[in-house]
Amino acid sequence: MLLSRHPWKTRKEAPSDAEAASHRLMLRAGLIHKAAAGIYNLLPMGHRVLRRIEGVVREELGRIGSQEVLLSVVTPGELWRRSGRWDAMGEMLRFRDKRDRDLCISPTNEEAAVDLFSSVAGSYRDLPMSIYQINTKFRDEIRPRFGLMRGREFIMKDAYTFHMDEACLDRTYLDFHRAYGRILDRMDLEHIVVEADGGLMADGGQRTHEFQVTAGAGEDVVVRAGSWAANADGARTLRAGADDGAPDGKDDAPGEVATPGLHTVAGVCGRLGVRPSRILKSLLYEAWRGARREDVLAVVLGDDDLSETKLKSHLGCGRLSPMGADRMAELGFERGFVGPFGPSAKRVRVVVDGHVDPLAPYVTGANRRDAHLARFRPGRDGAPAETADLRAAREGDLAPDGSGPVEFCRGIEVGHIFQLGRKYTESMGVSVQDGEGRPVHPLMGCYGLGITRLPAAAVEQHHDERGIVWPKAIAPFHAHLVLVSRDPALGSRALDLHGRLGAAGLDVLLDDRDAGAGFKLKDADLLGVPLALVVGDRAWRDGRRVEWVERATGRREAVDPSELPGRVRAFHGLPP
Ligand code: ATP
Ligand code: MG
Repeated sequence: MLLSRHPWKTRKEAPSDAEAASHRLMLRAGLIHKAAAGIYNLLPMGHRVLRRIEGVVREELGRIGSQEVLLSVVTPGELWRRSGRWDAMGEMLRFRDKRDRDLCISPTNEEAAVDLFSSVAGSYRDLPMSIYQINTKFRDEIRPRFGLMRGREFIMKDAYTFHMDEACLDRTYLDFHRAYGRILDRMDLEHIVVEADGGLMADGGQRTHEFQVTAGAGEDVVVRAGSWAANADGARTLRAGADDGAPDGKDDAPGEVATPGLHTVAGVCGRLGVRPSRILKSLLYEAWRGARREDVLAVVLGDDDLSETKLKSHLGCGRLSPMGADRMAELGFERGFVGPFGPSAKRVRVVVDGHVDPLAPYVTGANRRDAHLARFRPGRDGAPAETADLRAAREGDLAPDGSGPVEFCRGIEVGHIFQLGRKYTESMGVSVQDGEGRPVHPLMGCYGLGITRLPAAAVEQHHDERGIVWPKAIAPFHAHLVLVSRDPALGSRALDLHGRLGAAGLDVLLDDRDAGAGFKLKDADLLGVPLALVVGDRAWRDGRRVEWVERATGRREAVDPSELPGRVRAFHGLPP
């Protein structure tokens, strides 16, 4: 491709609202153009990167026998009503057509995939089935940011598989798990596979993993130890060390203590001289399923924080919001002095973290202003409660598999795979006949990969102060020929070399613009093609050579142009 005929403009500065390095560099290098908040156009350079990513993904999914389809981007509301998700999908963009029928722009496609499946599969003989697409999604994200990283419109690779039994689902799940690993390895993306939280997507108890590309700009926090890793949001880590300090007094009926104005754990600890782990932290929420509300009181130890992700997943609700002051007053709770007992607590759903010992004495809010209750034993004195893992993982915790103390790092979630179980085939009433002719709801898996998030993740991991350093497998070009001479003879040499490299099956960019050498070399560094071939007066005079410059390492060498087609192919690991 000749740059002189290509609409490309780089910029010295990125707009001030571009916070992440990848966002800044992709704008500056002329890969993307913002159309609206969270909505981007891809320019030719950006589009090339995307096509190469898609190429890698198609190859690896082909290897595990998944078939590519293209589902409609607009889907009928009726499909979403069948699965019960029409009202639950918070980020879905809904609209009506001229006949007043509900439609939406797909935020994900489980329903459409099940519908398609049911039209082609009738019996166990048609299973397993594995389909995928690379297609546009729209989610009206509250906070689109970091350019392509969190867009409202974005491209996802989403796959759906259907199975008669768990063993088959497990095998396919492992196939996808491995394929994702190969895809990311080929793109030189360092990543961690973490246990994730299924949220609203799956039945409880199913397997789900996220693929996190490690990067400081990542929005996710990953917690890991040894070979165990999880998304910190839902990580089931353990508190380190046993809690003593549970005196087993005989006369230990609960008793009120005055705690005027002390509505924080630290305040109460100071006043009563107890450790935070001897205090119960009680938090009131309203849990929403569509328009239906449930009042919830969640309890964790005083030095722990509550994980709203875990609570949501335990309750199976779509949205959680802190209980409003009016509702608290209606139920008879006092902000800052809430406790899981008495008539107020009996009117709400009480969920207690598993690290709270039901028989040990704690200090809790007395459900009265300026008072706490000491020697409160939840199992003896408290309202009926469920136990669940609710505490947020924190520094100093231990991994649940015995790998030892955990550490935290940041990641960009580029992929997420789920075992969905029968959730969608059941809710949508889709079945096939088994060997005995009985109808059964097939099991499903679904597998998402952020096609437009991947280049952003790649730039986060691969850039320097001069610009992007594309991993070879997804670079917009194999080589960037930079003509830094105004000598017409050299100009035609460069054009000739461009032609010969192209004939050797290489994608080559020739910067033949009428511009200075410094300007062109800066642009080449910014764009980040892995290999620059500089055609300039000096190397040419010193023996008709071209300067070979590797972007990642800075390694330079004067090379005879006749060797270039073979050497560039070898550099990219292509067969001679
Ligand atoms: P996140 O937690 O980042 O919001 P998600 O859990 O909503 O993502 P999934 O529904 O699992 O995402 O979608 C599969 C993949 O699609 C994600 O792993 C991610 O790579 C990509 N993706 C999701 N939302 C966006 C977005 N707003 N912009 C770009 N890519 C996205
Ligand atoms: Mg996810």
